[in-house]
Amino acid sequence: MKNTPSKSSHNGNKKHGNVKSENRQEDTDKALRDLFVDELKDIYWAEKELTKAIQKLIKHATSEELSDALTDHLEVTKEHVTRLEEVFSKLGENAQAKKCEAMAGLLKEGNEIIEETEEGVVRDAGIILAAQKVEHYEIATYGTLRAFANTLGENEVASLLEETLNEEKEADETLSEIAESSINVEAVGEEH
Ligand code: FE
Ligand code: ZN
Ligand code: FE
Repeated sequence: MKNTPSKSSHNGNKKHGNVKSENRQEDTDKALRDLFVDELKDIYWAEKELTKAIQKLIKHATSEELSDALTDHLEVTKEHVTRLEEVFSKLGENAQAKKCEAMAGLLKEGNEIIEETEEGVVRDAGIILAAQKVEHYEIATYGTLRAFANTLGENEVASLLEETLNEEKEADETLSEIAESSINVEAVGEEH
Protein backbone atom coordinates (compact mmCIF):
# COMPACT_ATOMS: atom_id res chain seq x y z
CA MET A 1 0.00 0.00 0.00
CA LYS A 2 2.78 2.43 0.74
CA ASN A 3 6.36 2.71 -0.28
CA THR A 4 8.19 2.74 2.99
CA PRO A 5 9.48 6.28 3.13
CA SER A 6 11.43 7.68 6.05
CA LYS A 7 15.08 7.53 6.51
CA SER A 8 14.46 7.28 10.20
CA SER A 9 16.96 9.26 12.15
CA HIS A 10 18.01 6.51 14.51
CA ASN A 11 21.58 7.48 13.94
CA GLY A 12 22.60 6.48 17.38
CA ASN A 13 23.07 9.84 19.02
CA LYS A 14 23.59 9.08 22.67
CA LYS A 15 21.98 11.83 24.70
CA HIS A 16 20.21 12.23 27.97
CA GLY A 17 17.10 10.14 28.37
CA ASN A 18 14.56 12.93 27.96
CA VAL A 19 16.29 14.41 24.90
CA LYS A 20 16.38 10.97 23.37
CA SER A 21 12.69 10.42 23.97
CA GLU A 22 11.96 13.85 22.51
CA ASN A 23 13.83 12.77 19.40
CA ARG A 24 11.86 9.59 19.31
CA GLN A 25 8.65 11.61 19.51
CA GLU A 26 9.83 13.77 16.62
CA ASP A 27 10.60 10.66 14.59
CA THR A 28 7.15 9.32 15.30
CA ASP A 29 5.48 12.58 14.30
CA LYS A 30 7.48 12.68 11.09
CA ALA A 31 6.59 9.07 10.28
CA LEU A 32 2.91 9.67 11.00
CA ARG A 33 2.96 12.77 8.80
CA ASP A 34 4.58 10.76 5.99
CA LEU A 35 1.91 8.08 6.32
CA PHE A 36 -0.79 10.76 6.41
CA VAL A 37 0.45 12.46 3.23
CA ASP A 38 0.85 9.10 1.53
CA GLU A 39 -2.73 8.13 2.33
CA LEU A 40 -3.96 11.53 1.12
CA LYS A 41 -2.32 10.76 -2.23
CA ASP A 42 -4.12 7.40 -2.23
CA ILE A 43 -7.58 8.88 -1.62
CA TYR A 44 -6.82 11.69 -4.08
CA TRP A 45 -6.27 9.06 -6.77
CA ALA A 46 -9.45 7.30 -5.65
CA GLU A 47 -11.61 10.44 -5.81
CA LYS A 48 -10.30 11.36 -9.25
CA GLU A 49 -10.96 7.84 -10.49
CA LEU A 50 -14.47 8.02 -9.02
CA THR A 51 -15.35 11.06 -11.10
CA LYS A 52 -15.02 8.75 -14.12
CA ALA A 53 -16.50 5.63 -12.52
CA ILE A 54 -19.64 7.35 -11.23
CA GLN A 55 -20.42 8.60 -14.75
CA LYS A 56 -20.33 5.01 -15.89
CA LEU A 57 -22.67 3.92 -13.07
CA ILE A 58 -25.09 6.71 -14.04
CA LYS A 59 -25.14 5.47 -17.61
CA HIS A 60 -26.13 1.99 -16.50
CA ALA A 61 -28.68 2.93 -13.82
CA THR A 62 -32.34 2.50 -14.72
CA SER A 63 -34.12 4.05 -11.74
CA GLU A 64 -34.33 7.82 -12.02
CA GLU A 65 -33.99 8.15 -8.26
CA LEU A 66 -30.72 6.24 -8.41
CA SER A 67 -29.30 8.10 -11.37
CA ASP A 68 -30.25 11.43 -9.72
CA ALA A 69 -28.51 10.42 -6.49
CA LEU A 70 -25.42 9.35 -8.41
CA THR A 71 -25.45 12.56 -10.41
CA ASP A 72 -25.56 14.57 -7.19
CA HIS A 73 -22.73 12.54 -5.75
CA LEU A 74 -20.68 13.03 -8.90
CA GLU A 75 -20.78 16.79 -8.30
CA VAL A 76 -19.91 16.27 -4.63
CA THR A 77 -17.04 13.98 -5.64
CA LYS A 78 -15.59 16.69 -7.88
CA GLU A 79 -15.60 18.92 -4.80
CA HIS A 80 -13.79 16.19 -2.87
CA VAL A 81 -11.02 16.32 -5.44
CA THR A 82 -10.62 20.09 -5.11
CA ARG A 83 -10.95 19.93 -1.33
CA LEU A 84 -8.04 17.48 -1.23
CA GLU A 85 -6.04 19.91 -3.36
CA GLU A 86 -6.77 22.50 -0.69
CA VAL A 87 -5.57 20.03 1.96
CA PHE A 88 -2.29 19.43 0.11
CA SER A 89 -1.74 23.14 -0.26
CA LYS A 90 -2.40 23.78 3.44
CA LEU A 91 0.18 21.11 4.25
CA GLY A 92 2.68 22.61 1.80
CA GLU A 93 2.66 19.41 -0.24
CA ASN A 94 2.15 18.85 -3.96
CA ALA A 95 -1.21 17.38 -4.89
CA GLN A 96 -0.05 14.07 -6.20
CA ALA A 97 -2.18 11.00 -6.92
CA LYS A 98 -0.97 7.53 -6.06
CA LYS A 99 -2.88 4.52 -7.27
CA CYS A 100 -5.25 3.14 -4.66
CA GLU A 101 -5.35 -0.61 -5.21
CA ALA A 102 -8.37 -0.99 -2.96
CA MET A 103 -10.48 1.51 -4.93
CA ALA A 104 -9.24 0.04 -8.20
CA GLY A 105 -10.47 -3.35 -6.96
CA LEU A 106 -13.84 -2.04 -5.84
CA LEU A 107 -14.38 -0.34 -9.20
CA LYS A 108 -13.36 -3.48 -11.05
CA GLU A 109 -15.97 -5.43 -9.11
CA GLY A 110 -18.52 -2.74 -9.93
CA ASN A 111 -17.78 -3.19 -13.61
CA GLU A 112 -18.17 -6.94 -13.29
CA ILE A 113 -21.58 -6.50 -11.68
CA ILE A 114 -22.67 -4.33 -14.60
CA GLU A 115 -21.41 -6.91 -17.09
CA GLU A 116 -23.06 -9.81 -15.31
CA THR A 117 -26.54 -8.34 -14.77
CA GLU A 118 -29.44 -7.43 -17.00
CA GLU A 119 -30.40 -3.79 -17.19
CA GLY A 120 -33.15 -2.97 -14.68
CA VAL A 121 -33.87 -3.48 -11.00
CA VAL A 122 -31.26 -6.16 -10.40
CA ARG A 123 -28.48 -4.18 -12.04
CA ASP A 124 -29.64 -1.14 -10.07
CA ALA A 125 -29.38 -3.16 -6.86
CA GLY A 126 -25.87 -4.18 -7.92
CA ILE A 127 -24.91 -0.57 -8.64
CA ILE A 128 -26.12 0.42 -5.17
CA LEU A 129 -24.09 -2.43 -3.68
CA ALA A 130 -20.95 -1.35 -5.53
CA ALA A 131 -21.49 2.33 -4.69
CA GLN A 132 -22.05 1.60 -1.00
CA LYS A 133 -18.83 -0.41 -0.82
CA VAL A 134 -17.08 2.63 -2.24
CA GLU A 135 -18.76 4.97 0.25
CA HIS A 136 -17.80 2.74 3.16
CA TYR A 137 -14.21 2.66 2.00
CA GLU A 138 -14.23 6.45 1.81
CA ILE A 139 -15.88 6.81 5.21
CA ALA A 140 -13.20 4.59 6.80
CA THR A 141 -10.46 6.54 5.03
CA TYR A 142 -11.68 10.05 5.84
CA GLY A 143 -12.53 9.11 9.43
CA THR A 144 -8.98 7.91 10.01
CA LEU A 145 -7.35 10.75 8.10
CA ARG A 146 -9.30 13.28 10.13
CA ALA A 147 -8.02 11.62 13.32
CA PHE A 148 -4.46 11.72 11.96
CA ALA A 149 -4.86 15.43 11.15
CA ASN A 150 -6.02 16.12 14.69
CA THR A 151 -3.11 14.17 16.15
CA LEU A 152 -0.72 16.16 13.98
CA GLY A 153 -2.30 19.43 15.11
CA GLU A 154 -3.57 20.20 11.59
CA ASN A 155 -6.97 21.40 12.69
CA GLU A 156 -7.99 23.23 9.53
CA VAL A 157 -7.13 20.17 7.51
CA ALA A 158 -9.09 18.04 9.96
CA SER A 159 -12.22 20.10 9.41
CA LEU A 160 -11.86 19.95 5.63
CA LEU A 161 -11.62 16.17 5.86
CA GLU A 162 -14.62 16.10 8.16
CA GLU A 163 -16.72 18.00 5.61
CA THR A 164 -15.96 15.32 3.06
CA LEU A 165 -16.53 12.56 5.62
CA ASN A 166 -20.02 13.91 6.31
CA GLU A 167 -20.85 14.07 2.60
CA GLU A 168 -19.77 10.46 2.14
CA LYS A 169 -22.03 9.44 5.03
CA GLU A 170 -24.92 11.34 3.45
CA ALA A 171 -24.34 9.60 0.13
CA ASP A 172 -24.32 6.24 1.87
CA GLU A 173 -27.59 6.98 3.65
CA THR A 174 -29.24 8.15 0.44
CA LEU A 175 -28.21 4.92 -1.27
CA SER A 176 -29.64 2.89 1.63
CA GLU A 177 -32.92 4.75 1.34
CA ILE A 178 -33.12 4.10 -2.39
CA ALA A 179 -32.32 0.44 -1.86
CA GLU A 180 -35.01 0.10 0.78
CA SER A 181 -37.70 2.09 -0.98
CA SER A 182 -37.90 1.89 -4.73
CA ILE A 183 -35.70 -0.93 -5.84
CA ASN A 184 -36.54 -3.65 -3.35
CA VAL A 185 -40.23 -2.92 -3.62
CA GLU A 186 -40.10 -3.04 -7.42
CA ALA A 187 -38.02 -6.20 -7.38
CA VAL A 188 -40.50 -7.95 -5.12
CA GLY A 189 -43.36 -6.57 -7.19
CA GLU A 190 -41.95 -8.08 -10.37
CA GLU A 191 -41.81 -11.55 -8.89
CA HIS A 192 -45.59 -11.69 -8.60
FE1 FE B 1 -15.67 11.26 -2.12
ZN1 ZN C 1 -6.30 2.97 -0.94
FE1 FE D 1 -18.15 9.15 -2.20
